[in-house]
Amino acid sequence: MTTLNSPTSEIVGAKTATVLEAEFGIRTVGDLVRHYPRRYEQRGALTDLGSLEIGDHVTVQAEVRSFKNLKNKSKAGSRQEVIIGDGTGQLTLMFFNQHWREKDLKPGRRGLFSGQISVFNNKRQLTHPEYQLLDDLTQVNAEDYTEALLPVYPATSKIQSWTIERAISSALTKIEDVPDPIDVSFRKDHNLLNLVTALKLIHQPANQIELEQAIARLKWDEALVLQLLLAKERKELENAPAQPRIVKPDGLLANFDRLLPFKLTAGQQAVTKTIETELANGHPMHRLLQGEVGSGKTVVALRAMLTVVDSGGQAALLAPTEVLATQHYRAISKLLGPLAQRGRLGSHDEGTGVTLLTGSLNTATRRQALLDITSGQAGIVIGTHALLEDRVDFFDLGLVVIDEQHRFGVEQRATLVAKAGQDRKPHVLVMTATPIPRTVAMTAFGALDVSTLTELPAGRSPITTHVVLAAEKPSHLSRAWERVVEEVQKGHQAYVVVPRIASQEDKPTDKNSRPAVALEDLAPQLIDGPLKGLRVGVLHGQMPGPEKDDVMQRFALGPKDSNGLDVLVSTTVIEVGVDVPNATMMVIMDADRFGISQLHQLRGRVGRGSAPGLCLLVTEAPPFSRARDRLNAVAATTDGFELAALDLEQRGEGDVLGRDQSGLRSGLKLVSVLKDEEILSKAQVVARDLIESDPNLDNHDALKGAVANLIETQQAQYVKKS
Ligand code: ADP
Ligand code: MG
Repeated sequence: MTTLNSPTSEIVGAKTATVLEAEFGIRTVGDLVRHYPRRYEQRGALTDLGSLEIGDHVTVQAEVRSFKNLKNKSKAGSRQEVIIGDGTGQLTLMFFNQHWREKDLKPGRRGLFSGQISVFNNKRQLTHPEYQLLDDLTQVNAEDYTEALLPVYPATSKIQSWTIERAISSALTKIEDVPDPIDVSFRKDHNLLNLVTALKLIHQPANQIELEQAIARLKWDEALVLQLLLAKERKELENAPAQPRIVKPDGLLANFDRLLPFKLTAGQQAVTKTIETELANGHPMHRLLQGEVGSGKTVVALRAMLTVVDSGGQAALLAPTEVLATQHYRAISKLLGPLAQRGRLGSHDEGTGVTLLTGSLNTATRRQALLDITSGQAGIVIGTHALLEDRVDFFDLGLVVIDEQHRFGVEQRATLVAKAGQDRKPHVLVMTATPIPRTVAMTAFGALDVSTLTELPAGRSPITTHVVLAAEKPSHLSRAWERVVEEVQKGHQAYVVVPRIASQEDKPTDKNSRPAVALEDLAPQLIDGPLKGLRVGVLHGQMPGPEKDDVMQRFALGPKDSNGLDVLVSTTVIEVGVDVPNATMMVIMDADRFGISQLHQLRGRVGRGSAPGLCLLVTEAPPFSRARDRLNAVAATTDGFELAALDLEQRGEGDVLGRDQSGLRSGLKLVSVLKDEEILSKAQVVARDLIESDPNLDNHDALKGAVANLIETQQAQYVKKS
């Protein structure tokens, strides 16, 4: 009997099965019937050809307008130029030496045409497209010809939409008896179709109403299974023991608070309080701290770390880049002052060791660092991915802090957590400056509780952002460089950010666009040209660690120091976390090559002090392009939440959250974490109740199987990534 777990080879030939797996990761019948149409076309209604983007792989429904058989001038042979249209726009199909296509592609015939959009002679075209004329399509029933919706599947050049359609049609005939994970009474209460019907209707809806019913039902499956998994994780955490970490009176934390040069914001105080309560609990804290760029998350994390150290444990802070880890190490050592030196002359009684571990330490320093971590001499350990290596062995890891969580995968978090030991769970605090809606956080970060810092510390000046149109108004770009010089003359510093390091790497795929501005080209031009006389440093991710560190340190020293730097020309290595309050200006070259959230992060590097910040987004993107809209949006607001929502909307959830945190991991295909907040919240309540009464889902076989499948998918994702 065919089940959802049967291999696709039970349904389709070996060749198609291989392609389905290679192109879409479809291995089982369940995967196949959950390969939902990307969109539906009213049979006979034509696709809006005007909206197709160059480079897109498309399947369009259109009508043949003309067929021309042309002789090639220079070479022997012929080409066939076929115009298809939709009433408003048109598209050229180009074939070579295939004049016999004339008998297929007669003017007036309609069909589905599939291929990659390219540009030739200023016209959009499909070269050697695959096509299927409408009267040939298998699934047509004469009677519902007018109403039926035509499914268009996510397809690639290796497998066409109509081939997928055929495979799915035959799968649907074989799954009549698969069990429904959602039981009858629940379906009745919520007015939901049964599973098999819903699957049939999502692929073969007769009309819009059937389609909506199918989607509503299948969304429940996704939401419920995901929420069950999260509820299970949560339950396990709630039951897991953790060592309570209790604030010590007049200990390290108390002394630190006395030294702190500023007053915590109300938000920082509130989060701090929550964290203190949770650390004192006998179960592990699992909290996500999200906060606008510059909202002061580090101090909150540091106070949590000091609480753990006060109670005899160690805290580890994981940062995504060496630049950021080193900066954290310096900033934390500085904030702690004498408290950061245990056992040394003149050190404080309550002090602890602060240790940095990155990939570029020399052997002796690394050996010492590893020793301090193992012996517990280092109460606070700060590092990059180097912390995840096997040989890093903690004495008593009580708290894991992960900065800029979106740069790490879930499995990396798990690796560090596992260093607390087999039977003990550490407390976990993850931080992100990419503010995301609650439902997104829930699905992306799992069973985490969320705290949010919305206010910036007092005394910050706002950042002004302008779009500079380099192609249309070159004089504005020259003016930008003059502004950099003026800013430096006022005693401030500036960043210049470029999309890539060298001019020869990653050639553009589309030959109409020029390659992005490269660091190696721009830096010398600036140094010999508009920024002549300024002290300009260069920074990128492929520089050796000590060199990077040296440049960052000199930039941090600032213009007053004889060894300091005025301007830093850099790639996005400075995107996250870098904190030089004296920097007031940023020029971002080819800003259209960055995402919305990334631009927001980048510009967060300026305006961190009391002087107003200025960010210039330099672009050559054409007017009315999506890229231009994006830049205008970034210039129009500094509200990170608003921009994150826009980013999610424009790029899709998977892109923004990163592959491993996207739909693949959460199993969400139909449910949108942005738009389906209601169903996700309802499913959460149902799931928590279910897990409460039946923790292992022993009385809900099909649901148990679905959750197991999701776990398996997730694990497969991890393996593929590592
Ligand atoms: P982010 O949340 O982006 O990680 P940081 O933790 O790097 O922000 O903080 C940005 C800057 O603000 C740091 O220089 C930090 O010392 C400072 N800061 C943090 N909290 C306060 C506060 N309450 N008042 C003044 N400055 C603060
Ligand atoms: Mg930070």
